[in-house]
Amino acid sequence: MSNESYNPFAIAQTQFDKVAEMLDLDQATRDLLRNPLREYHFSIPVALDDGEIKIFKGYRIQHNDARGPAKGGLRFHPEETADTVRALSMWMSWKTAVADLPLGGAQGGVICDPHNLSDSEQERLCRGWVRQVFNFIGPEIDIPDPDLMTNPKHMLWMLDEYEVLAGKKAPGSFAGKPVGMGGSMGRAEATGYGVVINIHEALKELNLSPANTTASIQGFGNVSQFAIELFNQMGGTVISVSSWNQTDNDSYTFRKESGVQLDELRSVTDSFGGINKEKAIDLGYEVLTGDAWIEQEVDILIPAAIGNQINKDNVGRISDRVKIIAEGANGPTTPEADTVINERNIFVIPDFLANAGGVTSSYFEQVQSNMNYYWEKEEVLSKLDVKLRSAFISISDFAKDNNLTMRDAAFVISIDRVAKACHDRGWV
Ligand code: NAD
Repeated sequence: MSNESYNPFAIAQTQFDKVAEMLDLDQATRDLLRNPLREYHFSIPVALDDGEIKIFKGYRIQHNDARGPAKGGLRFHPEETADTVRALSMWMSWKTAVADLPLGGAQGGVICDPHNLSDSEQERLCRGWVRQVFNFIGPEIDIPDPDLMTNPKHMLWMLDEYEVLAGKKAPGSFAGKPVGMGGSMGRAEATGYGVVINIHEALKELNLSPANTTASIQGFGNVSQFAIELFNQMGGTVISVSSWNQTDNDSYTFRKESGVQLDELRSVTDSFGGINKEKAIDLGYEVLTGDAWIEQEVDILIPAAIGNQINKDNVGRISDRVKIIAEGANGPTTPEADTVINERNIFVIPDFLANAGGVTSSYFEQVQSNMNYYWEKEEVLSKLDVKLRSAFISISDFAKDNNLTMRDAAFVISIDRVAKACHDRGWV
């Protein structure tokens, strides 16, 4: 396979071209939407603790803001590239549109490995990033969020620098802040709960009762743990989860036929979602190979770890019992595997719908921060429920009416919404 096929931006553009054809978009709209509107590439000088100055490469890329202020994550990653940021910015435009949020899409990044930076170096890097893009972000322009290897603490440093430069408070300029410092209640639960809200709707569609359904999940981090919590409340049982083991540099699947017990498994899991193998065995878990999660005899599979995990090499191992795949992770299924899954009539809830609870709760945080008035957790979660169910229903109705997969229906609806906003504004 050529390098080109692994380039996320080339993949995002190919996906877009396919849907542009289905929607019969005019050439100007295609030219506008297959590339970002604006890109900022910059150098960030940071004084290291030993006095050396190191220059980091930073990005903020705004794919589209026709539907509202741009929004999207900000990653710290050693392998960050301009094309990764471009692709993620485009996918954010479709994700905010699929959830029908009044927002556009953006993404940012810094090429760095925060593991090798002290806290004060990370703080200076965060402040330096803001100084480079201060004029191009803000509550009415573009609101960054945490993403890979960035966290609420980073967002708070960035907010603080933004407010120093602005000479005023602007809590709505960043999302994913710590609760009590402008963060929203329910943000931690939102993505995992959102995956299960989507599963609940899919089960209704398939005329299946949630009680007594079983699931197997890849990953045991934020998304997976809260998905398990709500799935259990719905009456279902998760029989296996998998996780990455840092010491062995390998992954394992942990299975308990009677059901994974969330609290006991959390008690032997580190803050990165890594389960301690020996302690899990003591708790009565069977330890299987890392990819065994995919071949369990369950009704539902939930990939909630990393990308490209369901691929042509393992798709054939999915049991005939599986009726639903809910993509909690971003990009867990390769296009080849997707074709096989569609031929087998497994109901797929595509990533940008299944995990849209994260961006939806982040939007709720912006709203609360702009008002400087914070809702109770129940209010956040009930608004989340309404928003996600309505997104699911509009996509599944469209899929049925037009004989499309859920993934194609979600792409068509979201790209059509963004294209219409560009037309209505008179851009194209
Ligand atoms: P996390 O870092 O909290 O947890 C990741 C989990 O995956 C950990 O348990 C880790 O051990 C496991 N893992 C990593 N590599 C693995 C492998 N090769 N095999 C098995 N397990 C492996 O991450 P998270 O926040 O739960 O996010 C999970 C996925 O969901 C990511 O793809 C992320 O982009 C996506 N997502 C997250 C959010 C959010 O709000 N957290 C929102 C949208 C999408």
